[in-house]
Parts: sequence; structure tokens; C-alpha cells
Amino acid sequence: MKILVINCGSSSLKYQLIDSETEQAIAVGLCERIGIDGRLVHTPAGREKLIFDKALPNHEAAVQSVLAALVDKEHGVMESLSEIGAVGHRVVHGGERFTESVIIDDEVIKAITECNDLAPLHNPANLIGIDACRKLMPGVPMVAVFDTAFHQTMPKKAFTYGLPHEYYDKYKIRRYGFHGTSHSYVSKRAAEIAGLALDHSRIIVCHLGNGASVSAVLNGKSVDTSMGLTPLEGLIMGTRSGDIDPAIIEFIAKKEGKSIEEIMNLLNKKSGVYGMSGVSSDFRDLEAAANSGNELAKDATEVFVYRVAKYIGSYAAAMNGVDAIAFTAGLGENDKNIRRRICEYLGFIGVEIDEERNNVRGKEAVISSDSSGVKVLAVPTNEELAIARDTVMLVSNR
Ligand code: ADP
Repeated sequence: MKILVINCGSSSLKYQLIDSETEQAIAVGLCERIGIDGRLVHTPAGREKLIFDKALPNHEAAVQSVLAALVDKEHGVMESLSEIGAVGHRVVHGGERFTESVIIDDEVIKAITECNDLAPLHNPANLIGIDACRKLMPGVPMVAVFDTAFHQTMPKKAFTYGLPHEYYDKYKIRRYGFHGTSHSYVSKRAAEIAGLALDHSRIIVCHLGNGASVSAVLNGKSVDTSMGLTPLEGLIMGTRSGDIDPAIIEFIAKKEGKSIEEIMNLLNKKSGVYGMSGVSSDFRDLEAAANSGNELAKDATEVFVYRVAKYIGSYAAAMNGVDAIAFTAGLGENDKNIRRRICEYLGFIGVEIDEERNNVRGKEAVISSDSSGVKVLAVPTNEELAIARDTVMLVSNR
């Protein structure tokens, strides 16, 4: 079966067409600048990338051009759209309502809409993508896969904030966590690669990309994670501050005469290693700057590394130990220096990195030494494949 995986943002739409038998992507692509002017970048597997400058006034037009590209006589990858067996949609926030992926129907759409308050930037965009696909592919089953669902197994002690209880009752303010599809996929792969029985394992997953989060996965279930009500909490990220003293918000507001909205924008878009260094949110730029003597870039990287190590230490405590630590996403998969530097803090739990094994990029590998007390791994994430797998499972069981 061919599965179309859609990740729809407010002005972009990423897609992959995946063959569920081979689990390989047949085509990948991206619509950008939706509602502005429009651009479609389409790459059929093993062939040249194609760029179409196309007017994309809205998401329906974007989905329409994706479908046209997929069956294009010259650049397409299939004869007819009827070959698409199902569509899997990434949805950011499923609140407490969604603990796993679901087949989309009108009731599910209503329930996702009710979660919009919790993710005002993401959920409405995800819904627009779903709506456009339902219009253009009537009768094709669609599945919603939530970033938050995997973390719904967190116990109360991990998801509760130290706030008056009424705010949970009234508004469901609690820690939800994100990147769940990645944490789920990577923890399962890590158990397989490390030779652990998933239902008897303590795994810490470090998803280190532009957005970054750590999770504690006990016996295959998420028991804690660093992102919270929103993706702002936790690690220092590319442009997000991660954990700060909440009183800083009032302090800056008063000193700089800024509104709450301006400060939230500052914390989400202008902080993290970007704001700390004044150089870039991209760690490759930071490394280059640090190597040429930029002290702020050096400091930003060390604060990032230290924060990750602290989370790993606390999650080892949460699970009464740890069997495996898995690094994933852009940095975790590719940056041996960042992995090594994080692990240098972890000798106290028996972590020992093998320099040669750690010299990998974008590949599954055990990077700890044979004598290490904890297996350390690099595991490329594949959120699209995880979405396609859930989609096939739900559609086949209908
Ligand atoms: P997101 O999907 O959250 O936008 P990614 O998972 O693509 O982010 O991760 C982006 C980060 O990964 C950047 O800081 C970038 O420097 C880093 N990164 C990506 N590729 C490499 C690489 N080959 N070597 C080192 N760092 C990399």
C-alpha cells in the first residue's frame, strides 16, 4: 500500500509517499510560502530534485500540486492517485483526549479543534491540511498521529506543575511533551539495536534538533519528558530558551516595556543558542564561530551540552537507572562532538564513549565502549515512517 504522509504547517507542507511493504520513501517534498507566492520542491526517490515555482494561494492549492507532482507524466512516481491507500497526518497537540493515533472522522476533527487552545500556532494549520486532503481525496482513509500521544503514559507526578490545581481543572495546564513520534520510534529501535527487551528497559532518548527534547522511556512507555504545556520548556534549543525562572518575564517586561506577546516571541524565536551567541541557531555555524575564538558561541554550546547532561542525570534518577541512551535528530545523529561532550558528564552512571565508534553520521550505531555501564547509541529518527506504520495498522484493522 502507498501511504501519503503530510506534515502541514501554517505556510508550509511537507510530504512523503511511502511504500508500506518496503518501508521506503518513493517521493519526498515540500511546499513553501503557501499564501505568499508558492514553491514546490519535489524529489522522486533516487532522482533529481525538482523545483516548481507555483502559485499556492492556500493549502488546498498546495495539496493539489503535491498530488499533481506525484502523478506527473515526467516526474511522477505513480500512474494514478487511486494507488494512495491512506493518508497519515502529523498533528501536534492531542491534549489528554488522544493517547494514540486515530482514524480521522468528523468527531475526531472536532476533538482536535478543541485542542487548538493548547497549540494555537500548530493545530489549526494541521487541521487545514487535513481538510484540504479530505476535499481532494474523498473516500481515502486518513489517520491523525499526535506529537503528544506517546507521552500520555507519563504519571501525574511527572506531568503536574506546581500551580494552583484549578488551572489544571479549568484549562488542562500540565506537561504534555512533544516529538512523541520520534521518542517512540527511536526508543524501540534503540532497544532492538542494544539487544534489550523493550518491556524490561530503561531508555533515555535525546532528540536534539532545532527543537530539542529528552524523554525517559521505561519498559517502552514514556514516563517523563522535558517539553511541557508547549515546546518551550526544557532544553536550550536553536532559538527557544528552554527552562528559565518565570519571574524573568516580568523583569524584562518592566525593564524593556515589552508586552507578554513580545516576550513570548523573544523566548521562542530569539533565545536559545541563537540569542545566547548572537551567531546562529545552527550548531554547524556555532562550531565554526567557536573554533575561530568566539567566546559567546563557545559558552552557548557548553550551556546546551550541560543542560542535556542534567536532564539525562535526572531521568536516570526517575527510572532508578538507565540501560541505554539514544541520540537522534539533526545534532544527535550527526554531531559526534556534541554527543561526546554530553557523555563526558555521565561517567558517574558508567557511560564510556568509544571515540572510533562515535565517529558516525546519520547511521544507526552503538557508540559506547564494550565496558560502558550504559549502552549509548546514535539512532536516526524517522517520524514519517512511524506515521506511515500507524496509518497502515489502523487502516488495515478497520
Ligand atoms: P528540526 O527538524 O527541528 O528543524 P533538525 O533535526 O534538522 O531540526 O536539526 C537541526 C540541527 O542539527 C542544526 O543545529 C544543525 O546544525 C544540526 N545538524 C544537521 N545536520 C548536521 C550535520 N551533518 N553535522 C552536524 N550538525 C548537523
